[in-house]
Amino acid sequence: MDKRKIEIEYTVFENKEELVEEDRMLIEKAKEISVNAYIPYSAFRVGVAVLLDNDKILTANNQENASYPEGLCAERVALFYAMSQYPNQKIKSIAVYGNPQKFTLTHFISPCGGCRQVMYEYEYRHQSKMRILLSGNSGKILLVEGVENLLPLQFSAKDLSINE
Ligand SMILES: [Zn+2]
Repeated sequence: MDKRKIEIEYTVFENKEELVEEDRMLIEKAKEISVNAYIPYSAFRVGVAVLLDNDKILTANNQENASYPEGLCAERVALFYAMSQYPNQKIKSIAVYGNPQKFTLTHFISPCGGCRQVMYEYEYRHQSKMRILLSGNSGKILLVEGVENLLPLQFSAKDLSINE
């Protein structure tokens, strides 16, 4: 037996004034688009802004559905849109902004497992780590550099014996 431990790394910022201008701007774009979220069931708005290597910024929000599983998280709406428009561009950063209508977040918004998997897919595709900025109406910001810090022991194409 060989018991092992995985460590993850992230940085916490107390407020957006501590951020570099590019990150501050990206979070602002995520916040702006969050107000257009279609959230009749959860009242939980999420906005996402994706910054590509060519400096294009694409934004999106969560889209719910009366048939609950048919909705989609803001992260995936944004990533699929960005990668369908600019398939060969690496993703530099993704900002996620949680903006619930009925309360103030007391903790960081955290991408669901499915969205972490999709983030990792594009890191693997482009062989390039992305920066993930997690924020919301709580004011604090968490920066994660590389999806392995959100999703240890990732599943990817290498597990399917593809690209070998
Ligand atoms: Zn998700």
